[in-house]
Amino acid sequence: MMFNKILIANRGEIALRVHRACRELGIKTVAVHSTADADAMHVRMADEAICIGPPSATDSYLNVPNIISAAELTQADAIHPGYGFLSENARFAEIVEEHNIVWIGPTPDHIRRMGDKIEAKRTAAILGLPLVPGSDGPVETTEEAVAVADRIGYPVLVKAASGGGGRGMKVIPDGESAAALIAAAKSEAKAAFGDDTVYIEKYLSEPRHIEFQVFGDGKGGAIHLGERDCSLQRRHQKMLEEAPSPALSPAERAAMGEVVRRAVAKLEYRGAGTMEFLYEDGKFYFIEMNTRLQVEHPVTEAITGIDLVREQIRIAAGLPLSVTQEQIRFDGHAIECRINAEDPATFAPSPGRVTDYHAPGGLHVRVDSALYDGYRIPPYYDSLISKLIVFGATRDDAIARLRRALEEYVIHGPKTTIPLHQALIEDPEFQAGEYSIKWLERWLAARA
Ligand code: ADP
Repeated sequence: MMFNKILIANRGEIALRVHRACRELGIKTVAVHSTADADAMHVRMADEAICIGPPSATDSYLNVPNIISAAELTQADAIHPGYGFLSENARFAEIVEEHNIVWIGPTPDHIRRMGDKIEAKRTAAILGLPLVPGSDGPVETTEEAVAVADRIGYPVLVKAASGGGGRGMKVIPDGESAAALIAAAKSEAKAAFGDDTVYIEKYLSEPRHIEFQVFGDGKGGAIHLGERDCSLQRRHQKMLEEAPSPALSPAERAAMGEVVRRAVAKLEYRGAGTMEFLYEDGKFYFIEMNTRLQVEHPVTEAITGIDLVREQIRIAAGLPLSVTQEQIRFDGHAIECRINAEDPATFAPSPGRVTDYHAPGGLHVRVDSALYDGYRIPPYYDSLISKLIVFGATRDDAIARLRRALEEYVIHGPKTTIPLHQALIEDPEFQAGEYSIKWLERWLAARA
């Protein structure tokens, strides 16, 4: 029943990550690539590779007909979408299934429901998850929005129903500016997502971002794999993640994990997912569910010893979950640094040729990257070029190992955010685990 061949509809480090899981399961892989990625590592490693279009992602990695053709041509049994690109596109999932190809992911219905953030909150409420106080569904007119905001109390956050990736949000500090800011948010949402539906939430002042990794078997069986703390963000983009969260006690983890696990079971969810929460003053508030593998999944793999991509593939093949909740152990501490090809001071993208490359190694050091010596980072895609993940028996051990691994890491040519990570982990507040989602931007501002 296991697949013979999987097409990986992605590029970069995540395409390699999926390839590696396939290889270990004895499954052949098909890489797809744009003309700009002909020399990419994911193309080199795969058993077969097919060019699906020109550099622009719209014409290649988002080109549904070409990806389906590539799968048919190579007789792939299944498609793994990675993260980003088409991974949360319900219509794509449907088209894959209509072509009798297995979609390695949740049902199109679940993707659609959770992709609409208002619908997701409604579902979360039905499932018994705690929500951020806010409008009960979309707010139609600017006047209605102002009335809701007045009732909740300022500051509030106006969010686009179709938003994502940290885009489509605006803080409204007070009643005076409300009407103008809500009108602006609606027109920006229309321009960015083709949908001006917005909703309103209480703007929490110093929360942490804590998310739970979950898996469902599609038949009501579900497990949670603990949480990740992703509070260190710049412009709502995560920069460093860790598991477990320094803020949660084992009792809080077990209690909230069980709430989340039950919700996933009730949903009859299939495959990997992440329930994202804000956490403030000991309380959780659901913000959204991601119906795909996350960038930061390796920290969960490190503390549980479970290969999440392998688990995704097994479930898609109709196999049961490989572990029960009782069998899952959380052991030690893991930290991931997202290393971007960007100027560490200005964050300006820095693509180009890697003139010298040496990845760190040693005990409990993992590098998920598609870089190699002489590789030319194309300017067309995301600037994430490497994820450095370390594991230690304790958080202090993990930090010491991270310091050592960052020191070893050589990437010459493009500028990278390595120096920023080096400075960040020396900060006493980071070392104490005392940070909220506001912390990193304050820290960056103080350095400038
Ligand atoms: P996206 O889908 O764009 O990632 P999210 O709803 O997941 O949007 O929110 C992204 C980030 O925005 C969160 O991690 C948090 O930092 C911040 N955020 C979201 N909702 C709130 C809120 N109600 N109060 C304060 N910060 C918030």
